[in-house]
Amino acid sequence: MLNSDPEVLIIGAGCAGIAAARALRAAGRSCVVLEASGHLGGRARTCTTLGVPFDHGATWLHQAHENPLTAHVAEHIDHDTVRERHLHLGDRFATPEEFQDYWRAHGAFEDALAAAPLTPDRPVTEAAPRGGRWDATIAHWLGSQINGAELERISLEDYVRTDLDGPNLLPREGVGGLVARLAEGLDIRLHHPVRHLRWEGPGVVAEGEFGTLRAARAIVTVSTGVLAGGGLRFTPELPPATRDAITGLPMGLLTKFAFRLRRDVGVAPFHSARRAVTAAAPQPMSWVFRPFDAPLVFSFVGGARAWALLREGVAATEAAARADFAAMFGSDDALGEALVTHWGDDPLFFGSYSHARPGHHASRAVLATPLGEGRLTFAGEATHSRFAGTVAGAWLSGEAAARAS
Ligand SMILES: Cc1cc2nc3c(=O)[nH]c(=O)nc-3n(C[C@H](O)[C@H](O)[C@H](O)COP(=O)(O)OP(=O)(O)OC[C@H]3O[C@@H](n4cnc5c(N)ncnc54)[C@H](O)[C@@H]3O)c2cc1C
Repeated sequence: MLNSDPEVLIIGAGCAGIAAARALRAAGRSCVVLEASGHLGGRARTCTTLGVPFDHGATWLHQAHENPLTAHVAEHIDHDTVRERHLHLGDRFATPEEFQDYWRAHGAFEDALAAAPLTPDRPVTEAAPRGGRWDATIAHWLGSQINGAELERISLEDYVRTDLDGPNLLPREGVGGLVARLAEGLDIRLHHPVRHLRWEGPGVVAEGEFGTLRAARAIVTVSTGVLAGGGLRFTPELPPATRDAITGLPMGLLTKFAFRLRRDVGVAPFHSARRAVTAAAPQPMSWVFRPFDAPLVFSFVGGARAWALLREGVAATEAAARADFAAMFGSDDALGEALVTHWGDDPLFFGSYSHARPGHHASRAVLATPLGEGRLTFAGEATHSRFAGTVAGAWLSGEAAARAS
């Protein structure tokens, strides 16, 4: 190693990479972050293409009282305190009585999961209420819409151990704006995709079109989608336990849409609408109206339907979102220019965030275990056993990897 080599190479400038770099800098240690894309923040990305901030990925700071990013937010609102929720039943909005009944069933559904024995592990569906009026809608919300995968694919143990609640903060600058601001002053090299990481020792060597960079240690923060997809090669090959952990933590998919609103549709700023599962709409979308009073509505769809729409292409995906909106408001006239995300086929992510297959909650800790006497440490949302799938988990995992490196 040369004297000018950094102590630590960090691969990926998402939340985990930025948190790791900040922690190393605070400890007086040198590091360089290599980022494949031209953006900071990874899955935390805010754009203003539609004239107002819109988060392509992470939107809320969940469980804000325990979220490490809460301390850094400049201006925000607690969405739960200003959001009125609406439930659409396919041909009309729910009455107050139906709405109350829905939330009672929702509470009972969550209580049943929280009370279920976690061993032996099994799919969430095996502990979930079934057959009640609202159960399919609740399962769709908690599975596809929140976790990006159907409940039958998800480990009950992991679901319960990573379950989150409010407060849910919306930062005015967007989550991506917040994370990019926290990257200021760090040595981050954009457009530096790492193709090959050698960690046989005594140090590590990262290789790519940029050439070769050496360091004593590496922290790898790319998604489990990228790790499983083989876009980053390791020499020596990763041990079987690590490879097994990666396949146990696949990526789900949440596709987000934003539309400029051409006119008011009579829904107040920050209000949200869920749509019930019906025969005509078995995998409906969810909507949030006019955040910060912006002329914007955003929506999301996850799981199997999001993967199917990805295969159909952007035009079909946008048309599906317009149809979902029209089912509530009679037409999609109010919707202007659209933005459709495509995390599922982006080779820098291959999905939105990880879930654990049944029997794989422990894979998160396995993936987080340093290899090669600490030369190689994985971080990122998938490695966090409590806040997996979130910016909080990614951030905390980056800090932990910095301490371990
Ligand atoms: C649609 C969507 C909605 C979400 N909603 C929320 C939410 O409301 N709240 C919440 O807390 N979380 C949410 N999340 C999840 C959250 O965004 C992620 O958990 C978190 O941002 C992951 O951070 P990370 O650092 O682990 O990974 P990433 O953000 O994926 O960072 C990894 C970085 O590595 C880079 N990279 C990939 N391959 C290479 C390579 N070969 N060489 C160099 N660099 C490479 C990538 O470009 C990326 O920048 C959402 C995510 C999505 C997609």
